[in-house]
Amino acid sequence: MRVGSRLLCALVVAMVSVPILANAQARPFPGPDLQQVYHRLLPQIEKIPAFDHHAHPGFADDPDVDAMAAPPNASEALRTRDDNPELAAAAKALFGYPYSDLSPEHTKWLVDKKGELKKQNPGPAYFNMILDKVNIESSVANRAMMADYLDPKRFPWVFFADSFMWPFNNERETARNSDQGVFIPLQEKMLHRWMQQENASKLPASFADYLKFISQVLEDNQKKGGIAMKFEVAYFRPTTFGDPTSQQAEDIYHRFVSGGVPTEREYRTFQDYIFRYLIEEGGRLHLPVHIHTAIGIGDYFNLSQGNIMNLESVLRDPRYAGTTFVMIHGGYPLEREAIWLAAMKNVYLDSSFGELAQYPSAFKETLKMWLETFPDKITFGTDCFPYNQVLGAEESYWLGAESTRTALAAALAEMVSEGEINEGRALELAHGYLHDNAVKLYGGRVH
Ligand SMILES: [Zn+2]
Repeated sequence: MRVGSRLLCALVVAMVSVPILANAQARPFPGPDLQQVYHRLLPQIEKIPAFDHHAHPGFADDPDVDAMAAPPNASEALRTRDDNPELAAAAKALFGYPYSDLSPEHTKWLVDKKGELKKQNPGPAYFNMILDKVNIESSVANRAMMADYLDPKRFPWVFFADSFMWPFNNERETARNSDQGVFIPLQEKMLHRWMQQENASKLPASFADYLKFISQVLEDNQKKGGIAMKFEVAYFRPTTFGDPTSQQAEDIYHRFVSGGVPTEREYRTFQDYIFRYLIEEGGRLHLPVHIHTAIGIGDYFNLSQGNIMNLESVLRDPRYAGTTFVMIHGGYPLEREAIWLAAMKNVYLDSSFGELAQYPSAFKETLKMWLETFPDKITFGTDCFPYNQVLGAEESYWLGAESTRTALAAALAEMVSEGEINEGRALELAHGYLHDNAVKLYGGRVH
C-alpha cells in the first residue's frame, strides 16, 4: 500500500510538473498541436479589422497612384509576376471569377465585372467595398496626390517628400542609367506640382525662402489630410547622409538655383542638408517620416548603397528623437538586422512588400523573428498597387492581406506550440501588429 501510494504521489507530481516545466523553458521544435493551434488562431486573425500602413490604392489609369513608375522591362521576382496563379484565386475570392487562369479571353470577364461594380458603387463606395471585402478598416494611400474616388476617412494620405532634394539641373542624374531616366523627371514633376500648389512660378532666390517653401508645403499637405511624409530616396542616391552646415547648403543653392550643373558631391551635400531639415520638420509638425527601405523595382537599384543599415546614424541620432520613423518594407531582405533599429523608441518597421516578395512559408519566418524581438514596433501593410487593368489594387490588397494573415497565424502558432507564449497573448500580438501599433503612432488621427 505504502509503496503504491508513494508511486501514485510520484505520478501525480510528474503529471503536474510536466506542463510547469514545459512552460518554464521554450522548446526548439513545435509540438503535435501545431496545426490545431494554427486552425484555431487563423479564423480569429481573419476577423481583426486591419490598418494597412503602406499601400498605393487607385485605378491603373490614374497617374497619381505613385510618385514613381516602374522602368520598362524591369525584372520581377517570381511571385510578383503577372502570371502568378494566386492572382486568379484573388479574383475568385473578390469577384467570383469563374476561371483558374488569366488568359486574355478569361480576363475580359474580370474587367467587365469590375466595370459593373464601379457603376453600382460610384465614387468612394467602390474602394470602400474592396476594403470591407479584405477586412481592412483603413488603408494608407501613399500617392502623389489624393483621388476624389477614395474616401479620406478610410484612406489617409501619405505624400512624397523626396522632390525637394532635386531642385537643380538634373541632366547628369537623369543620364546615369535607364532607371534614373524614368525616376528623376518624375521627381522634377513632383517638385513642380508643389510649386503650383504654393503659387510659385519659380524657385525662391534665397535659401531661407526655399526652406520656408518646403515647410509651407508640409503644413499645407497636413491641412489637406496628410498624416506622414514618405521618402523613396534609396532609388535615387545612397542612403548614407552627411551632416553639412546650413552655410554649405546655402552656398550650393545660390550657385545652382538659376542654372548650372552641380558636381555629384555638391548635389549630395545639398541633399544631405535638405533631408535632415525635412526629418526635423517631421518632428516639429508631428508628421511621421516613412522611408522606403528594401530592394526596389528596376534592375539598377543598388541594394548595398540603399541598405537600411546606412540609416542607422540618422535613426540613432538624439537630435531626431522627436521624429517618428517608419521603415517601410522593414529593410527586406535585411529584415533580421533591421528589427534591432526598432530598439529606438521612435522607430517602427512596416512589413509591406515582404509578404508579396516571399511566399507565406518564408514570410512567416520574418514575422516570427520580429514578433519575438519588438512585437510592439511592427506594423502591417500590403504595398498594394494597380499593376494593370486586369490585376488591380483590388487583387493586390487581397493577396497582401491573405498572405499576411496566414503567415501571422502560422508564426504565432509556432510560438504557442513551442511554449513561448499562450494563445491569448498570441491574439494580443496579432491585434497590435495588424492594427493597434500603427494607429497609436498617429495620436488619434487615424483609426
Ligand atoms: Zn510602396
